[in-house]
Order: sequence, then C-alpha cells, then structure tokens
Amino acid sequence: MKFELPPLPYAPEALEPVISTQTISFHYGKHHQAYVNNLNNLITGTRFENASLEEIVMQSEGAIFNNGAQVWNHTFYWEGLGGKGGSPEGKLLKKINDAFGTFENFKEVFADAAVKLFGSGWAWLVEDAEGILKIVQTSNAGNPMRDGLKPLFTCDVWEHAYYLDFQNRRPDYVKSFWDIVNWDKVGERLG
Ligand code: MN
Repeated sequence: MKFELPPLPYAPEALEPVISTQTISFHYGKHHQAYVNNLNNLITGTRFENASLEEIVMQSEGAIFNNGAQVWNHTFYWEGLGGKGGSPEGKLLKKINDAFGTFENFKEVFADAAVKLFGSGWAWLVEDAEGILKIVQTSNAGNPMRDGLKPLFTCDVWEHAYYLDFQNRRPDYVKSFWDIVNWDKVGERLG
C-alpha cells in the first residue's frame, strides 16, 4: 500500500500563535511528509507492502516501525488540535476527574510528563483495557498501542515541534498547547 500524507484538518494558520504557519510548513510539510516517503520506500518488497498503517505500527520493528509509527503519531497529533482549548465535557471530563481528581490537576500531570520526557518523544493521554485514563510517555516513535493502550490525545515534544516558535522553552510550548486542543475530537476517541 502506498501511503499518502493526510490533509491537515484545518488551515495552516489555524494553530497560530501557538504553532506558527512556519512550523506547520516544516513539521507537517517536511517532517511528516518525509516519514510517509521513507515508509513507502522501506516497505517495498517486504511483508508490510500491503499492510495497513495500524498493522505496521503493531507488528514491525526497526526503521519500518520508526517511520510507520511516526506517520501514525503525527496524523493523530494534528487531528487532536485545531480546537479552542477550554475544558472537555461529558464522559471525557468525568473520566479525567475520576482518574486525576480535577481537569486542572490532569493538565499539571500531563504537562509534567511532556516537559520531563528526556530527549525526543511523545506524551499521551490513553485509556487502558479497563477504561481508566492514564498518562504515558514514549520515546522517539513509540506508540502506546504496542502496550495495549488506546491513545486519546498526544503532544509531540520532539524539538522540531516547538523550536521555531519557542526555541528551547519546551515548558512554554506545553503550557500554550492547551489553547488549541480539540476536546470534542479527543472525546470521540473514547472506547
Ligand atoms: Mn513531530
């Protein structure tokens, strides 16, 4: 299967001022595209040539996993953004309160995980097999589905995600990030 870069679900300037149009042009236009291109080249002639992206994320290793999971993770990241921030509602808010006490506390714990992750990787809000929400970190291309967890929301903390807009100030990126979360989309992902 030839994979394609999925369209952004909003205009390139929609995430300003948190994520600039310039960052979108590199992060989506260059990095995400490169993972797609690399994946297509790597799977040619392998048992993953006709696999779905999910099969590649769950079953592959090495360079195919790294590029396949980065394609999946970035598409998931973009789709969770483009909202107006604020607070989640309904079932999602209840599950957040059940797991973390309050939405404010959830944001603190999530931000801490995102800021303290050493090196490149991702912070995730996930749902476990019992339907309990948890926060996990993955390094590099890591994806929580490999650990039987259902991803609900992610923050990319590779430097390419924030360096043009915040330079070395990852905490400022993570703090601003709440203003562009699409909580309706996150809620739709609940199992
Ligand atoms: Mn990235």
